[in-house]
Amino acid sequence: MRLANKTAIVTGGAGGIGRASCLIFAREGAGVVVADRAFEAAEGVAAEIRDAGGDAHAFEVDVTDVDSVDAMVAACIDRYGRLDVMFNNAGVFPDADGSVTDTPLEVWHQVIDINLKGVFLGCKVGIPAMLASGGGSIINTASFVALMGAATSQSAYTASKGGVLALTREIAVEYARQGIRANALCPGPTNTPLLAELLRDEPARQRRFVHIPMGRLAEVEDIAAAALYLASDESSYVTGTDFVVDGGITAAYVTPE
Ligand code: NAD
Repeated sequence: MRLANKTAIVTGGAGGIGRASCLIFAREGAGVVVADRAFEAAEGVAAEIRDAGGDAHAFEVDVTDVDSVDAMVAACIDRYGRLDVMFNNAGVFPDADGSVTDTPLEVWHQVIDINLKGVFLGCKVGIPAMLASGGGSIINTASFVALMGAATSQSAYTASKGGVLALTREIAVEYARQGIRANALCPGPTNTPLLAELLRDEPARQRRFVHIPMGRLAEVEDIAAAALYLASDESSYVTGTDFVVDGGITAAYVTPE
């Protein structure tokens, strides 16, 4: 098993990519803390894992609140005695986040708080626990939009994800000799309920698909498989990367018809 004897915290563990990652981490032998502000849904994921013979428990966390993040890491140490994988995956993309001239200030604050400060806090509190465990792997969820510009912009979201790339790089360099790796996972558009809702509008769907060389969305399992690789020792020489899983979007100038 690829994560035998390891313990992982997955924030946003009740959501699309988070849930798929919790399931595959547990299947590969990890003890998993399914952390989410949606506690009932997180409990559902943890129960699903336990029913399949895995080891998981749910934790209600608000990643924007340092005391809450502290309690999450403390709960993991209480239960497992160690922290090996910190997957800072919780994120939001509210409808009201648009062009820089239109995005309300409170939406800017909300998005930066969850998507960027949340990652900062996960690292701030997670790293000492990882050092005490002899090292570990940090995976911070960014997005392909941190690497490219879009005319239909989500300025707060894109800025938050760009911050995640820069922060992750610095953590990777600073802690490389102490056994901690840090990578930014950059998913392309992924088949989750929220995106499916956005893409119900046919013109919006066509606009998106024309830019994807593979001609399809990522499935959550595509992204979870990349997270598994980054979590496991198979990626032991991989740190500081913008780890892109996007069906070729960022490689394309013109996509095939
Ligand atoms: P999702 O909405 O299905 O899941 C996000 C989860 O985060 C939810 O369960 C939500 O309850 C939780 N969450 C939100 N705010 C929180 C907070 N303050 N504290 C704790 N938990 C909180 O979204 P998803 O598509 O699975 O996205 C997961 C990550 O992947 C996000 O960071 C997102 O930005 C990123 N991403 C998604 C896509 C995509 O197309 N779906 C593409 C690129 C990147």
